[in-house]
Amino acid sequence: MDFRLGDVIDDYCVKCRRLTNHSIVSLIDGAAAKVRCRTCYSDHDYRNEQAPPTKKELAKQKELYNAVLAGVIPGGIPDVVAVPDVVDSAVPVPEVAAEVPAAALDKKKKK
Ligand SMILES: [Zn+2]
Repeated sequence: MDFRLGDVIDDYCVKCRRLTNHSIVSLIDGAAAKVRCRTCYSDHDYRNEQAPPTKKELAKQKELYNAVLAGVIPGGIPDVVAVPDVVDSAVPVPEVAAEVPAAALDKKKKK
């Protein structure tokens, strides 16, 4: 189903901090590109109803990521520290990665 300008769809509004009704204000190939929150009237890119990670979450992920890279966590990478996909796109790879000792890299590569 193609969207039309002005159609109302759900999306996550950062200002309202929740899913709200949005009007489509821009379309690309029949998909919503930009939307306007009908609660606070702010425009933003359509987020596919996904809440962006908070800065706190990003900082926490980065901390864990660095800890793993630095070999701070003994015994390899526990499942609980598995870096979520979102880190790849949202957090630049820390420069510390270049300083990881070869031994740590070998351990990480082993599958
Ligand atoms: Zn809003």
